[in-house]
Amino acid sequence: MIRETFPVGPLQCNCSILGDETTHQAIVVDPGDDIPGILAVLAKHALSVRQIVITHAHIDHIAAAQRLKEITGAPVTYNQADLAMVAIMDVQAAWLGVPVPDVRPPDADLPDAATVRLAGSDATVIHTPGHTPGSLCLYLPGHSLLLAGDTLFAGSVGRTDLPGGDERQLIRSIHQRLLVLPNDTLVIPGHGKATSIGREREQNPFLRSASSTT
Ligand SMILES: [Zn+2]
Repeated sequence: MIRETFPVGPLQCNCSILGDETTHQAIVVDPGDDIPGILAVLAKHALSVRQIVITHAHIDHIAAAQRLKEITGAPVTYNQADLAMVAIMDVQAAWLGVPVPDVRPPDADLPDAATVRLAGSDATVIHTPGHTPGSLCLYLPGHSLLLAGDTLFAGSVGRTDLPGGDERQLIRSIHQRLLVLPNDTLVIPGHGKATSIGREREQNPFLRSASSTT
């Protein structure tokens, strides 16, 4: 499998492109910005986009999705519980002081356990509400890979002080849905450096304190 992860936009959201070497089909996860950079990576590997996946509808993860859809024809997919985030896209834009992006309802919902097809590397949606109501992680068991969005970070967890955030729900999502994955699962968070499930299970201070108080 081809995998390229690179930060896009002012908040340095990690955009990931997963592609199949044989069919040259790809998915793009969290195209928050930098269409030229995304197109350059696609061209470098001669990939065509079959699906756009959004881990959650925060502006830094979704802002360029509609534009990428118009260029590639690929559907934009995310969990419809985040329509509440789309409804306040103007507020989100004001947080960053940027123009309001063209963000639309998903072409297809991504509920828990949905499959995202990628030849030889099918991914499974894990619904992990907390950072936002519709936050999801994308798990590729065949590659021991988890794209975690803003749910779990190296040494930290997603913020829950924004509209729709719920700290208890976030911690529960991480404990019940992510820490049950194998220790050697590579975790690509929505921002910052990669980590692993085992490392976060042992060292993440937010998870340790949560488990000792509940
Ligand atoms: Zn976010």
